[in-house]
Amino acid sequence: MPLFSTTGIRGISNKDMNPEFCLDLGRTFGTLIGKGKRILIGMDTRTSSEMLKNSVVSGLLSSGCSVYDTGVVPIPIINYGSKKYDAGVMITSSHNPPEWNGIKFLLGNGTEISTNMERKFERILKSKKFTKAPWKNIGKYHEKDSMQDYINQVAKLVRINRTRGAKLKVIADVGNGAQGTLVPKLLNTLGCSGIILHGTLNGHFERVPEPRPDTLTKLVKEVKAQKADLGVAYDVDGDRAIFVTEKGNVLMGDVTGSMLARELLKKNKKGTIVTTVATSSLIDDVAGLQKGKVIRTVVGAKFVGDTMLKKKALFGFEENGGCIFPRMSYARDGSLTMAKILELLALSGKTLTELRKELPIYYQEKGRVMCPDTKKTKVTSAVKKKVKKQRMKIDQTDGLKIFLEDGWVLIRASGTEPLFRVFTESKNKKSAKELLRWGMNQVKKAV
Ligand code: MG
Repeated sequence: MPLFSTTGIRGISNKDMNPEFCLDLGRTFGTLIGKGKRILIGMDTRTSSEMLKNSVVSGLLSSGCSVYDTGVVPIPIINYGSKKYDAGVMITSSHNPPEWNGIKFLLGNGTEISTNMERKFERILKSKKFTKAPWKNIGKYHEKDSMQDYINQVAKLVRINRTRGAKLKVIADVGNGAQGTLVPKLLNTLGCSGIILHGTLNGHFERVPEPRPDTLTKLVKEVKAQKADLGVAYDVDGDRAIFVTEKGNVLMGDVTGSMLARELLKKNKKGTIVTTVATSSLIDDVAGLQKGKVIRTVVGAKFVGDTMLKKKALFGFEENGGCIFPRMSYARDGSLTMAKILELLALSGKTLTELRKELPIYYQEKGRVMCPDTKKTKVTSAVKKKVKKQRMKIDQTDGLKIFLEDGWVLIRASGTEPLFRVFTESKNKKSAKELLRWGMNQVKKAV
């Protein structure tokens, strides 16, 4: 297993992610970035975050880097804040269960370190050839508040005179995560009244940390009971935001991402939107009507952000609720997503349900087929060969995305589990189910 996954380094606290290992990770990153450099560090609310952060800080100081510690903050604050430093570090394991933790290493432009740098990082870690600063040059430790800088930038990117005038009521389910430190202040700046759900920030999660329709029942109930304009839910590091309409319907990230893309394209007259192969065709419909271009990438926020940077894109998003706004950073930002959705409500004077009705409806289905890791490549080629014989259109950006008459089927080998994931989409509910059966059968026959 490589050290880095697509989302940094992760493991179980005090087992894989223990103080000794994190000390070496800090030393390695300090060696890689170089002595004398300034590094911003933040952490999520997990019980192990403080412990691991202190180890990383020691390693960085030892290598001669100075550390600016901003405490518990959502990751968008570190992504944006890193731009004023030479690099950034975030201690988090996003939506994983509470016993997990992890680390993300960021560059001075707020994006995660490149694959090339990850290989260099691994070489330094393995050789243990760390930079050890002489006593005069050991790094200095500073406590630093980065929240207000971030809020000021949100206020520049959102028309707060309009959100203030709209007097919107928001229920925010921070999921006992890091957005709990920011969202109350941000709602205040936006002039919205808010109720915070699951706001105890002690590393114990009162709901499943991943915001999904099946984990947000309390939020849905509360939005209806309080007659709120919307509900919003975050994962533990706060880079993803999932919304609930005033009627209590959960909107997936495809929908809210397409809503925001539509507004930006309208305003900008044209532009490029970046998303992954797993995102709904809804974005193609929306972009098509607004003279926008859609670029699809491999699944993973890092790839969306990197492509946006290269193509100078207007906006990017993932179906899981991660939206990327280049004027903030090239990383997902759950809190700015909330601010932009509130701005959309304020400017349009419409409800979230009304805005949803302006977009076409697609139905999606998800399934999985077990398959040993050793057989994955063979299975993928077997399915590809068969489908090609039938002259179907395939996109091979990530796995096999097969286009059929009434929708598409995406077949991808999981990178972490011994299975294939099958996603389907159609404008017709029955067809989406039939496509899923068809896709799963293709994989089953090949396994
Ligand atoms: Mg996350």
